[in-house]
Amino acid sequence: MPSNDVLAILEFRGGQVTKAGPEVLGQARRLADTLGGAVHAFLYGEGANGAAAALGGYGVTKAYVADSPAFAAYNGGLVARAAKDAVAACDPRLVLLAATSPGKDLGPRIAASLDAGLAVDCTAIDIDGDALTAVRPVYAGKANQSIRIAAAPFVASIRPNVFPPAEAGAGDAEVVALDTAAAEGETRIKVAEVAPRETGKVELTEADVIVSGGRGLKGPEHFHLVEELAEALGAAVGASRAVVDAGWRPHSEQVGQTGKTVSPNLYFACGISGAIQHVAGMSSSKCIVAINKDPEASIFKLADYGVVGDVFEVLPALTEQIRALKG
Ligand SMILES: Cc1cc2nc3c(=O)[nH]c(=O)nc-3n(C[C@H](O)[C@H](O)[C@H](O)COP(=O)(O)OP(=O)(O)OC[C@H]3O[C@@H](n4cnc5c(N)ncnc54)[C@H](O)[C@@H]3O)c2cc1C
Repeated sequence: MPSNDVLAILEFRGGQVTKAGPEVLGQARRLADTLGGAVHAFLYGEGANGAAAALGGYGVTKAYVADSPAFAAYNGGLVARAAKDAVAACDPRLVLLAATSPGKDLGPRIAASLDAGLAVDCTAIDIDGDALTAVRPVYAGKANQSIRIAAAPFVASIRPNVFPPAEAGAGDAEVVALDTAAAEGETRIKVAEVAPRETGKVELTEADVIVSGGRGLKGPEHFHLVEELAEALGAAVGASRAVVDAGWRPHSEQVGQTGKTVSPNLYFACGISGAIQHVAGMSSSKCIVAINKDPEASIFKLADYGVVGDVFEVLPALTEQIRALKG
């Protein structure tokens, strides 16, 4: 029988725990409280040792760390092998991670090695008696699937930007440096290079500010109005599905149920009606500004600030003001 503890799997990249980390830690804490157990963490990445003790500020008791140059780039077999050592050390009831690209690869590997039930990309998760219950969107967001895993241990991944990030407090976790030599010796894959695509643009799911445009822009030739405001603010550009389906913008910019889930500090919805499927992807934004010429548009029900006006007038004026403010 596993313990009542939760093991949070965290990635260290670019000198810090990745953005999804505090979201995983928030849910790990909540679920461990339900179980009456402790939160442990498995943190992997080159340089991760330096960030491990501070995880105590999130309520982590023990942080198991895999830190060596071999962990500089994500290598699924290697990380899963090292995670196995952390799992063996704390025998958790639940292994929780984020459904990021590495997380989507890692979750099934850990579940297979534990012969455990797996719930991926969850938008809701709970412990119900001895079982884990979760909800996950399926068929490109057309339906939600309810999952119940009756026997522990459980492995689950949560969709990024859906759950609120935990706030860091004070306190140190006990740091356990894992000996990764065995894992490195066993791995059959070597990652030679990771070559990020140089788009020169802010990544949508990581962006602090997003300016999204919808069908109110009337055509792709007017999207420069959205791009200019985004550039002035240092923001990422997003889009509604209507304009993506129309071929005005790439799918990589689509926000919503069948696009990306985002939770920036500031979200501009320009000429977007606020359909439930769009809202599903951005409603957790901290501050929402809507610009729409229809005062009855449902986006205004959600917006913190609403501008009833024409995007062709409001966007250039706003961009000009932002540029002037920024000098
Ligand atoms: C299964 C499913 C999944 C979906 N997934 C997604 C998803 O992931 N993301 C998503 O966005 N949608 C999704 N949709 C589509 C969604 O239902 C809406 O059709 C879509 O969001 C509408 O996009 P829109 O707001 O740009 O267009 P519209 O609904 O046409 O709204 C345009 C808005 O612009 C305003 N407007 C027009 N002219 C101006 C102007 N000059 N100035 C200011 N405002 C103006 C109008 O008042 C209107 O409110 C999905 C639908 C389904 C069925």
